[in-house]
Amino acid sequence: MNKFKQAVAVLALCGIVQAAPAQDRGQKGQVVQDGIAVKPLKGGALRDLLAPEGAMDQAADQQYTALLGQARQKGVLVAENDPQVRRLRAIAERIIPHTTRWNQDAQQWKWQVNLLKSDQVNAFCMPGGRIAFFTGIIDKLRLTDDEIAAVMGHEIAHALREHGRDRQAKATTTGLATSALGALFSAWSGYDVRGLANTAGQLYVLKFSRDEEREADLVGLDISARAGYDPRAGIALWNKMAALNQSGAPIDILSTHPGGANRIQQIQSHMNVLLPLYARSKNTSVDRLPPYRSNVALR
Ligand SMILES: [Zn+2]
Repeated sequence: MNKFKQAVAVLALCGIVQAAPAQDRGQKGQVVQDGIAVKPLKGGALRDLLAPEGAMDQAADQQYTALLGQARQKGVLVAENDPQVRRLRAIAERIIPHTTRWNQDAQQWKWQVNLLKSDQVNAFCMPGGRIAFFTGIIDKLRLTDDEIAAVMGHEIAHALREHGRDRQAKATTTGLATSALGALFSAWSGYDVRGLANTAGQLYVLKFSRDEEREADLVGLDISARAGYDPRAGIALWNKMAALNQSGAPIDILSTHPGGANRIQQIQSHMNVLLPLYARSKNTSVDRLPPYRSNVALR
């Protein structure tokens, strides 16, 4: 088939998919009455053709496995029976059942949650549900469970909504991922833990756009609120982040997640749809919820 015919076929396919009823990916055109409104994923059939999910998943799996292997070797992979790892996994376990509303594929994801010993203020969720937290974000921000859920929800939301998929696809198809993996191994033969984590981060965490940030903030708090975590933690979290930032401490997560000043304002303006989800998960009503309590003081 020549290129023109191929293009026509692709467009026709898109047309069919667009016109198809709600079953496609389980969410086309679906409008929900509660929480943050679910939008269809971007791209549809054209995206699947240009950026096959299998290739992306394979690259993410390779990179995550390499990260864990190297971290283990360096002694910075926190043990499975560590209370902080258990804490993270318990929070993830509550959030995960609420993810499929946003991406039906998440049902098949092989979720993983790990903790790396590093003073970086950072966390991520790679495609396919591969999550990592750095001890720096938990310790320096003294995150409560609700606030960890806000971070985790945000990171999971990026993966669910396939943010940066076009950029990831480009890296995968041009072989960039493979060569970056090589660079990763050599970087890790060094000793610097911070360097280790930075290299890992650059592999797949492309800088998210402000639109993607806005969506991740809301989708993340939607799923954490359904899981029984207070969405007001989102406000506390970004306030803590801003305070630490002002103290001059490096905050790695901000370089890939450009939220800007109106992030808190946006979260606040959606509390009317987020708080009812939280209240429902606690079998109560919004007006009966106690005021939000954080541990406030920063180190
Ligand atoms: Zn983000």
